[in-house]
Amino acid sequence: MNQKISIYNTLSRKKENFEPINPLFAGMYVCGPTVYGDPHLGHTRPAITFDLIFRYLQHVGYKVRYVRNITDVGHLENDADAGEDKIAKKARLEKLEPMEVAQYYTNRYHDAMRLLNMLPPSIEPKASGHIIEQMDMVQKILDAGLAYISNGSVYFDVKKYNEHHKYGKLSGRVLEDLYSNTRALDGQDEKQNPYDFALWKKASPEHIMRWSSPWSDGFPGWHLECSAMSAKYLGEHFDIHGGGMDLLFPHHESEIAQSVAANKVEPCKYWVHNNMITVNGQKMGKSLNNFINLEQFFNGSHPLLEQAYTAMTIRFFILQAHYRSTLDFSNDGLQAAEKALKRLLIAYSLLEKIVPAEQTDADLAAFIPSFSAKCYEAMNDDFNSPLVIANLFDSTRWIHGLNEKKFNISKADLETFTQTFSTFMFDILGLTNEASGENTQTTEGLMNLILAIRQEAKTNKDFATSDKIRNELQKLNITIKDTKEGVSWSVE
Ligand code: ZN
Repeated sequence: MNQKISIYNTLSRKKENFEPINPLFAGMYVCGPTVYGDPHLGHTRPAITFDLIFRYLQHVGYKVRYVRNITDVGHLENDADAGEDKIAKKARLEKLEPMEVAQYYTNRYHDAMRLLNMLPPSIEPKASGHIIEQMDMVQKILDAGLAYISNGSVYFDVKKYNEHHKYGKLSGRVLEDLYSNTRALDGQDEKQNPYDFALWKKASPEHIMRWSSPWSDGFPGWHLECSAMSAKYLGEHFDIHGGGMDLLFPHHESEIAQSVAANKVEPCKYWVHNNMITVNGQKMGKSLNNFINLEQFFNGSHPLLEQAYTAMTIRFFILQAHYRSTLDFSNDGLQAAEKALKRLLIAYSLLEKIVPAEQTDADLAAFIPSFSAKCYEAMNDDFNSPLVIANLFDSTRWIHGLNEKKFNISKADLETFTQTFSTFMFDILGLTNEASGENTQTTEGLMNLILAIRQEAKTNKDFATSDKIRNELQKLNITIKDTKEGVSWSVE
């Protein structure tokens, strides 16, 4: 591997050198969506964060197995093992089979991911397809004496686990605080302690999604699927486990406990968490009416949106912040992102049209290798996408200079420059030119036509018309320059 990557590990709370268990292979597990509703803004940040990591690890030469699950059973409305199953509830309300609901929203999720130019994961396992693996894990934890059966349900014994291990090591919570922060047991409760969590839940008579097990007809607890499926596809100890910061507790904390109890080993080397998105400074939530579906972004139909935003604008906006920083969605921010992305795409299209000279000017010759080095440095420093974007912007002044024929560049240097720009912009950041193809050709054609009319006016000494064209284009932020070789244009 020719790049040394440093990665922030939530568990150790510091950046560590990325050294995978198998030197050439990287295994990554990311918690995917619970498929009971339309994909929304909250889904985009983990997907984009781990897509960026997936792309970069592959780019530097790792063979990556990226597993992202689909939760289609077991995720209850309340994290404290209470309430209805989210998918079953939706099915009941809409008079559908639970699996119809799950399939419909899985398709919707895939459609949105495709628009956002997300590479599909290597494996996308479903919780409902891994009931046997989950039951095996429950049995292992029972055998280890770290779970108990209560009225047909099986609960993880957090207090007992904590005698030899530390429940709370990932989230930094301590058991005493958990005790006072969780609701008191009401006497009817099956749990021995309020912080215990379900490995298996006995289904009530009206519960639709159920499987027979040694303990009861029931269904697995939500935290269990990720432990069982990550071990199945990546091994009991793998490299990266990722997800949103909202999953740190209880979900990921419980995953560690389950894996240690069942397999005697922690699930992964590096825990990676993306920070959350706020909307106009507020946390996203259904009650706050700021829960914006991706479709509403794409057609601008949500009352909080001033206009429609494309998938690439959203992707670019998210990549403009480091994944561990908070990110606030606002119309101003999105509109600025839209303009910035356009400027980068225009710069790239200009770069593709530069005609090389014999030699490269010294300053530019020094810039080209440092541009590439700085982009790698940024990505190697915990996947710092905003810094990559800053470097891309930095390169655009050279591109505009070349376009205005202020500098010369050799064929070989032009190729390196173009290659670096396109590798980081398109392959690693995963941006695409949504307006490519027809739109670009149309713009090119129109600009050629306008510039030809202006040239004709000048030839006829009709300076009023030629000045008018230049001034009107200036209002659209299009600058035209007369050079020895002809007229060039660029968008500021
Ligand atoms: Zn998970």
